[in-house]
Amino acid sequence: MDIINELMSYRERDIPYSRVLSSMCTVPHPVAVKAHEIFIETNLGDPGIFVGTIELEKKTIEMIGELLNNRNASGYICSGGTEANIQGIRAARNLKKVKDPNIVIPKSAHFSFEKIGDILGVEIRRAALNKDYTVSISDVDRLVDENTVALVGIAGTTELGQVDNIKELGKIAEENGVFLHVDAAFGGLVLPFLSRHIPFDFEIRGVSSITVDPHKMGMATIPAGGILFRDERFLRALEVETPYLTSKYQYTLTGTRPGTGVASTYAVLKHLGYDGMKEMVDGCIRNTRTLVEEMEVLGFEPVVEPLMNVVSFHAKNPEEIKEELYRRKWVISTIRNPKAIRMVIMPHVTEEVIGSFISDFRKIIS
Ligand SMILES: *Cc1c(COP(=O)(O)O)cnc(C)c1O
Repeated sequence: MDIINELMSYRERDIPYSRVLSSMCTVPHPVAVKAHEIFIETNLGDPGIFVGTIELEKKTIEMIGELLNNRNASGYICSGGTEANIQGIRAARNLKKVKDPNIVIPKSAHFSFEKIGDILGVEIRRAALNKDYTVSISDVDRLVDENTVALVGIAGTTELGQVDNIKELGKIAEENGVFLHVDAAFGGLVLPFLSRHIPFDFEIRGVSSITVDPHKMGMATIPAGGILFRDERFLRALEVETPYLTSKYQYTLTGTRPGTGVASTYAVLKHLGYDGMKEMVDGCIRNTRTLVEEMEVLGFEPVVEPLMNVVSFHAKNPEEIKEELYRRKWVISTIRNPKAIRMVIMPHVTEEVIGSFISDFRKIIS
């Protein structure tokens, strides 16, 4: 038991989620924890052994595909948005063989694309943003050339939760015969449940692949990301031969990989269903509105009116505010352009959490 006590002493030093307004991760749903336990020793890297688990992964992808307007999407549950983005772009690069491949991404793209440029040897071209911080379609158009292997649109930017005009990106993609990857790591499990219809998924013809992370708004256990392709052909472009396993080919980036993400993702979606997920998302949106109202009373204006449960507020001294809050055991984040403090209102950020946060926030600014 000494070891357990030792482990507990480390774990107790972690900051509990109830003080965290900076993270897109959250406390997993209880049914996800249960599912995780049942699948704890599974390895999807060897699907001939884990026959049931691989079947469950197919069903999980089908379920997410249905939510994203393509029941026949192909893909798999991976380690998170970073791996999903790598794999989306890797498929695009493998399919269009050019000497000096480039991809066109918005300036607002997640830092995982930095790694993608490095690993995949593709040039990263960054398109300018409009006043509302969505990508400028004309700048994307300007940057595309014959060596462009993929365009990237974001459905739920990490800093502001904005959604690019995926419809227009789809048009450019179709006109140029180029792959379009949508990074909906965060928004993929928010947008389908909003009352307002914001097109971003496979309903748009030009969309080739989508990243969606169940370990964010899907309340699955970490790690659980998702990469979905419109067509099985794209997944095939990732295959390598696997001589000594139960399968002949492998399209995943990692070899050994857990079935826990599959099981916990499936469990939450199945348990909550569409209505339960919508209720959860509605709650986060409501709490976001409350936070915005309270912050406005204190003189802090949102950079853009939040579309979903991510919001940044203009601030003259974001770093100081962040540090002062950290001293009071609150974690928020900051963005540099424009200077602002950023918060994500995940399911663990309840009305009570917001109340007590605002009360401390008031103290540090007075
Ligand atoms: C969170 C996020 C990622 C990265 O996902 P990880 O699971 O941290 O690897 C990529 N893109 C966007 C838009 C995200 O919100």
